[in-house]
Amino acid sequence: MPLVVQKFGGTSVGSLERIRAVAQRVKATRDAGNDVVVVVSAMSGETNRLLALGAELSGRPPRREMDTLVSTGEQVSSALLSIALTEGGAPAQSLTGHQTRIFTDGVFSKARIRRIDVEPMRSSIAQGVIPVVAGFQGLDAVGNITTLGRGGTDTTAVAVAASLGADICEIYTDVEGVFTTDPGVCKEAHKIDRVTFEEMLELASLGAKVLQIRSVEVGMKYGIPIHVRSSFSDAEGTIVGGNDSLESVVVRGVALDRNEVKCTIRALPDHPGVVARVFEALAENSISVDMIIQTAALDGRTDLTFTVTQTDFDATRDVATRAAQEIGAGEVSLDNSVVKVSIVGAGMRSHAGVAARMFRMLADHKINIDAITTSEIRVSCLVNQAHGDQAVGALHAGFGLTRNSQ
Ligand code: ADP
Ligand code: ASP
Ligand code: MG
Repeated sequence: MPLVVQKFGGTSVGSLERIRAVAQRVKATRDAGNDVVVVVSAMSGETNRLLALGAELSGRPPRREMDTLVSTGEQVSSALLSIALTEGGAPAQSLTGHQTRIFTDGVFSKARIRRIDVEPMRSSIAQGVIPVVAGFQGLDAVGNITTLGRGGTDTTAVAVAASLGADICEIYTDVEGVFTTDPGVCKEAHKIDRVTFEEMLELASLGAKVLQIRSVEVGMKYGIPIHVRSSFSDAEGTIVGGNDSLESVVVRGVALDRNEVKCTIRALPDHPGVVARVFEALAENSISVDMIIQTAALDGRTDLTFTVTQTDFDATRDVATRAAQEIGAGEVSLDNSVVKVSIVGAGMRSHAGVAARMFRMLADHKINIDAITTSEIRVSCLVNQAHGDQAVGALHAGFGLTRNSQ
C-alpha cells in the first residue's frame, strides 16, 4: 500500500474547526487506500506565546528548559488531532518525539536528527491506528527534550518520510505552494509548479520560510519528493524534487530574509590565523555565518564584517567580543537594520551577467548594496531594511517573474 506522510503547519491546525477539517483530509487519504502518517506543528501563535512566557521570566532562560517548554505546543496539537480523527471514525494516536523515538544531538533549540526508530510508527500502522507525530522535537543521548529550530516540523516530516521509505511527503500550509517570492510581500507572486531540490535549498536558506531548509536537505539526500500545498483547498501545489530540470529558468524566485544581523569587528591585526580564530569561536558556539567581507589591510589592520541570524544576536555579540579581546582587535558592533534579498535559478549556471542585471535594477531604484554573496545558482545582496520590500518588487518584475510575463 502506498505510504503518504502528511504534515500540517500551525495555521492548518490553528483552531478546533481547522483540526476537524484536517482530520477529514487525513481520513479521506487513508480511505483512498493509503497508509498515512501525520506530523503536526503547534497551533498557530502557540510557539511564540510559549517563547514569550520564558522570556518574561528571564533575559537568558536556560535553553534546556525553553526546549521542554516550546515542545509542548506540538504535543497539544497531536493529541487534539488524534481525538478528532478517532471521533471521525479513523482511529489515531499521538506520538511525542520521545515516543516516536526521534533521536537528535544535544544542541538545544537547533538540534539535528540523528536517527528515527520506525518501530513505534510501524506497529501503530499495523494495528490500523494512524500515528500523529508531534513535530519539531526529539530527544538527545541522555534523554533531554530537544527542538529542531523554527519551522522544524517540516524537517520532522521529511525525516519521518525518509525513515519509513514513504512515497511522498505532503506539506500542508497556508499558501498554495512555493511562490516566485513571498506572496505576503509581493502581490505579483505566483505559484511555481515544480522546483528542483537544489533551487528549493537556496530559496529556503534565503528566507522563503515555506519549508525549513533542513527538510529540503533531507528530501534531497533520500530522494523523497515533497508536495507543498494548501490545507484550505484541493488544488495541486508545488512539487519539490529532482535535480536540474530540462527547462531550467534563469531566475526561479526572489527571497527576502529579515533575520540577518551584521556584525563588524574593527582593526583586526593582519596576521595569519586571526580570522580563523574568530570563525572557530563562532563555530564552537554553533553560530552559522552567512556573508563575510574583509577589507584590505591598512597599517597592518583590517575590518571584518559578517552576518548571522537574529536568533544568534546575543551569542554572537558575546563570542565576537571575547574573540576580539583575545586577538587584540578593536570595537565590535552589531546592526540589525539590514535584510538580505536574493535571486535564485538553476539557469544562472549557463547565463552570464545575471548578477550585473540585479545590481543595475537595485541601482535604478536607488537601493544601496552593503554586501554581496553568490553561489552557482544565486546572488544575494544585503540592503537596508527600509528598502527590502521595494527591492523584492523590483527584482521580481525586472526578471520577468510577474504573472503576465510567464
Ligand atoms: P506553516 O505554519 O504551515 O509551517 P509557514 O508560516 O512556516 O507555514 O510558511 C508559510 C509562509 O511562508 C507563507 O504564508 C508565506 O508568507 C511564506 N513564504 C515566504 N516565501 C515564500 C515563497 N517563496 N513561497 C510561498 N510562501 C512563502
Ligand atoms: N512550532 C514550531 C515553530 O513555530 C515548529 C513548526 O511549526 O514547524 O517554529
Ligand atoms: Mg513552517
